[in-house]
Parts: sequence; C-alpha cells; structure tokens
Amino acid sequence: MSSEVAARRDAKKLVRSPSGLRMVPEHRAYGSPFGLEEPPWVPDKECPRCMQCDTKFDFLTRKHHCRRCGKCFCDKCCGQKVALRRMCFVDPVRQCAGCAPVSRREADFYDRQLKLLLSGATFLVTFGNSEKPGTMVCRLSSSQRFLLLDGDGDDHREVEVARIAAVQMLTEGLPPGDSLSHTSRPAAEGGNARATGMTLQYTTPGAEGLTQLTLTAGEDAEGSRRQATAWLAAMHKAAKLLHESRDQ
Ligand SMILES: [Zn+2]
Ligand SMILES: [Zn+2]
Repeated sequence: MSSEVAARRDAKKLVRSPSGLRMVPEHRAYGSPFGLEEPPWVPDKECPRCMQCDTKFDFLTRKHHCRRCGKCFCDKCCGQKVALRRMCFVDPVRQCAGCAPVSRREADFYDRQLKLLLSGATFLVTFGNSEKPGTMVCRLSSSQRFLLLDGDGDDHREVEVARIAAVQMLTEGLPPGDSLSHTSRPAAEGGNARATGMTLQYTTPGAEGLTQLTLTAGEDAEGSRRQATAWLAAMHKAAKLLHESRDQ
C-alpha cells in the first residue's frame, strides 16, 4: 500500500449529528472495527413520559435522548455526560443510567488497553498447525483495522481485525492448539492473570474456512513477558467489543 493511499484511508472528517460532533473516517469502509453506529432516536411523539421514571414531559420537564440507546428520558435519568469513543463523538455525550456505566468501562479500554495493543508485544507465533513458531512483534495498526506481525527480515503478515471469528486465551497448563472453540464467542471470563497465549481464528479473502494463528508469550526477559501478558488481556477485551459491534 502506498503511503498516499494509507493517508487517504486514515483521513477523517468532522460531522455534526443531532447528538453532537463526530470525527469519522472519510470512507465508511475504513472505520474502526470496534465502532458502533448511532442509534435511531425514539420519535418525540412516541414518548410522552420518561422511559425510566415515568415522569410526564411538559414545559418544565424536558425530554432528552440517550446518545447510546436512543431512548427518551428526563434530565434526572439521562443527565450524565460520558465519553463515547465507539460512536466517534468528540466530546462526552448525554447517556442514560443503563448506558453510562457501559461507556465508562469502554473508556477504560480506549485509555489503557488500546494503547497496549497499538504499542505491541513480542510473541512466538505459529500460523496454522504445521509451521514452526517464529518470534514476531504483534501490534494493532493505528487505524485499528489490522493486526500487524513483524518477524525477522521481510517477514511481515497482516490479519484484518474484522475477519477475526474467534479468540481463545491459552492459560497455564493448556498447551497451544488444544481445546479450540469454533464458536464466534470470545473465550470466557477470567484466566487473564495466567494467560500464556492466545489462538485467533480468522477468514482470509479467497480462502475457505478459518485460518488459525497462535501467539505464545515467550519465556525470555521478565519485562517483555509482562508486556505480552498485558497485550493478550487487552486483545481479549478487544475481541468482546468486536463481537458487540457485530451483534448490533
Ligand atoms: Zn426520568
Ligand atoms: Zn441509554
């Protein structure tokens, strides 16, 4: 990809929606795979009362729409302004009591874990079942759309994040490649503390079925091992967000 094309793909524009200012990709297809669409707002005429506390709207009690779910509330039930990066809002936006905590947890992902994913970590990487593992640095691209893997010399691979079908944590005592789930659900909660690796299954354009990739945290220097473990936990969280984006 030429740098000019890459720059065009990363280009963003400012748009104003009824909910607020959003910084979105120039081209919809180049949006973050973790993104969520803005919900349609419940029409004013369909909600004479707050959908949480049932207070009737009038001249004094004004109605407000939650930017995350699009439902209609009074100010008391929808007064929190919280960052909503998955919908590309520039500023914190009004959200209801159900949505605000979810967005706060995601803000933690954007503030801490996304940075880990972008900075990358070193793993022993196996593609499929046959190849022998090689040491590679794995990181998320700045557009969030690709996992980039770089090994010795020219060895460079990319996995499109939107094509990842399943992610499974490998924990202590579970050798890589064992007990693979073929569902599209990410692995169950827990086990992050002892995470030793991860398998990713993804589709490849033009190829049938799923390709598998195994990342194993190396046994070398303590610092890089810790970074690899943190990266795996962040990727696990990212897989959950990815799943929600698809369910939307
Ligand atoms: Zn209310
Ligand atoms: Zn809401």
